[in-house]
Amino acid sequence: MPEGDSVWRAAKRLRPALEGKQLTGCDVRVPRFATVDLSGRTVDEIVTRGKHLLMRVGDATIHTHLKMEGEWHIYPPGARWRRPAYRARIVLSTKDAVVVGFSLGITEILARSEEDRVIGHLGPDLLGADWDPDEAVARLRSDPLRPVGLALLDQRNLAGIGNIFRSEACFMARVDPRTAVGDVADLHALIEHARILLTQSIRTQRHRSYVYGRARLPCPRCRTTIRKLDQSDSPSAERYVFICPKCQPAPT
Ligand SMILES: [Zn+2]
Repeated sequence: MPEGDSVWRAAKRLRPALEGKQLTGCDVRVPRFATVDLSGRTVDEIVTRGKHLLMRVGDATIHTHLKMEGEWHIYPPGARWRRPAYRARIVLSTKDAVVVGFSLGITEILARSEEDRVIGHLGPDLLGADWDPDEAVARLRSDPLRPVGLALLDQRNLAGIGNIFRSEACFMARVDPRTAVGDVADLHALIEHARILLTQSIRTQRHRSYVYGRARLPCPRCRTTIRKLDQSDSPSAERYVFICPKCQPAPT
C-alpha cells in the first residue's frame, strides 16, 4: 500500500507536466465519469492530502488514490506506454506530455466545492504544511483502548502512514504496536518518528527498512530475531506488522 510519501513524490513529478498547462485531451476511463471532458481547461494546481491526490482544474477537481497498485506515468506525446492500456484509469494530455494514471484505486471527478466530502474526514497530514501534532495526538487518544498499530493506520487520526511506516515508527519509538493507545508513554515521539521517516523517504527517494519485511532477520539495534505479527481490523487492510520483541516489549 503506497504511503503518504509515494503520493507526495507523484505530485512533485506531475506538477511540471501539468500545472499551468492547458489540457488538450482528457480521457476518463471509469464508466461513471467517462463523459466528463476537461479539455480546453487549465490545470491550476496539484495538491496532496495524506494519500489522496487532487488536481484542481477550474471549478473541477480530479480526485485519485493510488491504493494498492496505482501509479502515474508521464510520456512524450506518441510514446509507447510501459503499462497495458486497459489499466489506464485516466489520460490527461497537454501539447507537451501525456499523463496516465494506471490501476488507480479511486478516480473521480468532483466539483471543487465537493473536495471536503472526500478528504474532510482526514486527520492532520504528516507531510502537510499545516501538520498539527497536538491535533493528531488528540485524535489518537479519542480511542484509548485501540492498539496503536491500528490507530496509526486510521487516516482519520493522522494522514499519511501506511503499513510500512507503522512498523518502522513503532520500532524507532520502541513501542509494541499491540499496545493500547492510552498506554503509549509518548505518542508525540512516536508520530514524530513517522514524520521524520516519511520526510527522509521523500528526500532520499528510497526507504531503508529497519524491521518491515525483515522477519527472522536480526534486529539492527540488538540482534534479536525480528517477528512478524498479524494485526488488522479490516479484511481489506494489509495485516502484517514487524517488531523486535526485545526493543518493543509486549504490553502487559
Ligand atoms: Zn531489538
